[in-house]
Amino acid sequence: MTTVTRFAPSPTGRLHVGNIRTALHNWMLARKSGGRFLLRIDDTDAERSREAYVDAIRADLAWLGLVPDDETRQSQRLALYERAFEALRKAGRVYPCYETQQELELKRKIRLGRGLPPIYDRGALELSAEVRAGKEAEGILPHWRFKLDHDVPIAWEDGVRGAQKFDPSQLSDPVIRRADGSWLYMLPSAVDDLDMRVTDVLRGEDHVSNTAVQTQMFDALIAAGHAVGPMPRFAHEALLVGREGKLSKRLGSLGCDAFRERDIEPAAIVALLARLGTSLPVEAIADRDLLLESFDLATFGRAPAKFDDAELDRLNAALVHQLPFAGVADRLPVGMDEAGWHAIRPNLTHVSEAADWWRLVTGPVDQPAFSEEDRAYLGEAARQLAWGEDPWHALTGVLKETTGRKGKALFLPLRQALTGMDHGPDMGELLPLIGEARARERLEAAARG
Ligand code: GLU
Repeated sequence: MTTVTRFAPSPTGRLHVGNIRTALHNWMLARKSGGRFLLRIDDTDAERSREAYVDAIRADLAWLGLVPDDETRQSQRLALYERAFEALRKAGRVYPCYETQQELELKRKIRLGRGLPPIYDRGALELSAEVRAGKEAEGILPHWRFKLDHDVPIAWEDGVRGAQKFDPSQLSDPVIRRADGSWLYMLPSAVDDLDMRVTDVLRGEDHVSNTAVQTQMFDALIAAGHAVGPMPRFAHEALLVGREGKLSKRLGSLGCDAFRERDIEPAAIVALLARLGTSLPVEAIADRDLLLESFDLATFGRAPAKFDDAELDRLNAALVHQLPFAGVADRLPVGMDEAGWHAIRPNLTHVSEAADWWRLVTGPVDQPAFSEEDRAYLGEAARQLAWGEDPWHALTGVLKETTGRKGKALFLPLRQALTGMDHGPDMGELLPLIGEARARERLEAAARG
């Protein structure tokens, strides 16, 4: 069976690094086996969903190179949920409830006070037909709960967490539909996963208890004849935490905009998030096929994955050093060609720094004050400068002979005069880019002081 995964964000905000990681892993799981990766916009919450966020989610995924094979939206599938709901109602798996928030809160407190787990007491199941009719007559509309089957133990083999077991009698029957008819997350998601033939649900471990409830929903939908199985496999990855090891607010708002602002390559984010929290080493791997080859849920750990900005910067630098000219040409300063990119690339942590380094070629350069002796030496350099295949090695070769200088005394004044800096790109690569006329001019200017 072809692997089908889905990424199902709610468009109530921008994607953050945790969502991005989930999207990436679902993309990888599908791509690794030539399967399909679906984007499902979970927008049943009309009040909080925004079209601008839907657009931003698409744009972020495109920027990261996580292109979905198909896109669906829950708001366009309401008729399907209605049918599923009817099927479950006929099968006696959903029931109407009339408690107010305050009543539920009070019940919760009482149960806690008695040392009982604060789960829903199924009070609404006891209501007689007359009482319900009376409520409806008063204009009180019910909200709806899914009835868990207490006789069927909940168990699944989780792709990351291993064998999972829940006692359904220790869980609340979840509310699946509000009194105004709108849907909560739980049922539409299960209905869609079956309808879209999702084979693998991979999401954060904050969804483990949802999965416990949803396994019974999947079974109930299949048993009621609404859908055909099987239900998907499940895997819940450990959460992403800050370097300090805590769930951080900052990570909750750190997204593609911030990464773009910091000039982080999508490849660096992908390389980091692909392996963070796994037993595989985080490496500057630009080739996605290589990342896919080693991708395996079995390598995922149970401990929270630590996200470290310094690690992201380190990876970014390493990946920039491998970036081919064609991949960055449109982001480079005017005039910077392939040779320029290759000369300057090893000095960069971020591509945007290329402009600063390119000024060493185009000038003007800011030369330091030279000693009299160095000025004479630089004058000699201007006279000896000859243009050929490899002007830098030719020049330093001659100067070594004529002046007897070596090491730092030989190289540093030349670098300083030619670039205005004490360090930087390889001079052998840089000098041809500076060109003969500019190089002679800079050496002569330095010699004059
Ligand atoms: N819309 C849900 C969320 O954003 C989807 C969870 C899931 O089933 O993957 O958390």
